[in-house]
Amino acid sequence: MIYADNAATTRMSEAAIQTMTEAMQSSWGNPSSLYAHGQEAKEVLEEARNRIAKVIGAEPKEITFTSGGSEADNQAIRSAAVAGARKGRKHIISSAFEHHAVLHTLDKLQKEGYEITLLDVHEDGLVRPEEVAAAIREDTCLVTIMYANNEIGTIQPIREIGRICRQRKVPFHVDAVQAVGHIPVNVEEDQIDLLSASAHKFHGPKGVGFLYVRKGIPLFPLIEGGAQERGKRAGTENVPGIAAMATALEESVNHMSENAAHLQAMRDRLIDGLREIPHAALNGDAVHRLPGNVNFCFEGIEGESLLLLLDDRGICASSGSACTSGSLDPSHVLLAIGRVHDVAHGSLRLSIGEEITEAEVEEIIRSVKEVVSYLRGFSPIWRDLMAGKKPFIL
Ligand SMILES: *Cc1c(COP(=O)(O)O)cnc(C)c1O
Repeated sequence: MIYADNAATTRMSEAAIQTMTEAMQSSWGNPSSLYAHGQEAKEVLEEARNRIAKVIGAEPKEITFTSGGSEADNQAIRSAAVAGARKGRKHIISSAFEHHAVLHTLDKLQKEGYEITLLDVHEDGLVRPEEVAAAIREDTCLVTIMYANNEIGTIQPIREIGRICRQRKVPFHVDAVQAVGHIPVNVEEDQIDLLSASAHKFHGPKGVGFLYVRKGIPLFPLIEGGAQERGKRAGTENVPGIAAMATALEESVNHMSENAAHLQAMRDRLIDGLREIPHAALNGDAVHRLPGNVNFCFEGIEGESLLLLLDDRGICASSGSACTSGSLDPSHVLLAIGRVHDVAHGSLRLSIGEEITEAEVEEIIRSVKEVVSYLRGFSPIWRDLMAGKKPFIL
């Protein structure tokens, strides 16, 4: 099997599995219990908090553990909305190609009376900082822009947007789920006020993540109950998962530059190889891009069929986000960067991991070329395009 779907989830690292197993075997007490066995679990928890905070340039008190990226996004946005409403500010700025955890939360807030400005994403898959600046108003209570897009891998100018938000005194939330552990992220240098991350995107376990909230920025709980996480997130902490998340994050960051160099070389070979396919185009900027992300549109085919035939050849890939697969709507991300419906339907995302070899990359290129040409062989759209009944777009 060639696994090229690391943007959907990653395989847990051996070290993370070991940390998790140890925590389950030895530190299984409740960290809120006062006897020594509980306090031992509490120590594991707080040590993980210290390690995670250090990696992103935060203080331990600024880290709240959550069930993953979606919960962190929901809590960050809802909190900022509540804090904003108390000051009579009910305007939020975001972009059209955010993850659904952000977009659907904003949809709900809109129904609750907030005004949402979704900035356009340009053809290169990048938000323009000057457009963020122009959208900020007196009543803006939050800017939320993702660090790196989960479908097309484009890396946003977060530092510049951070500077603008700081100048204008508007809290800045960043969904950094695809970035943390893969590219350098530092909440001080990037001037981020709230940040979401998820362990299963950097070789940690599923169902655990964290929310960074800068000191002085209010945080309200989504989940009511006990006083865990300083009253900001009720529920007994997932100690083994949190400990494993810290191990996975440190490991990813310690190997970041060597991993990125290898991934970037493999990514660029994939892009060059797939560009040889006629009427195909890379989605998103080739440079401001996650080291492991390749996303193409192929005219005249359906992404779903492409995926199934690649699966037959042992290649795991994706056609847009996992949340939308199974529905016939094309990806909102590809539509946001200006791809028309027909073209957006024929998309392929390859998100490779560190373990990928040159031979595997060549096999992916060969397979995609063969499968695209096979599918075009009986596609009515392709026949019309070839007969000149419809113009090619790509
Ligand atoms: C995966 C992902 C999420 C959701 O994280 P979960 O831990 O799966 O809830 C949010 N945002 C982005 C950009 C993601 O890639």
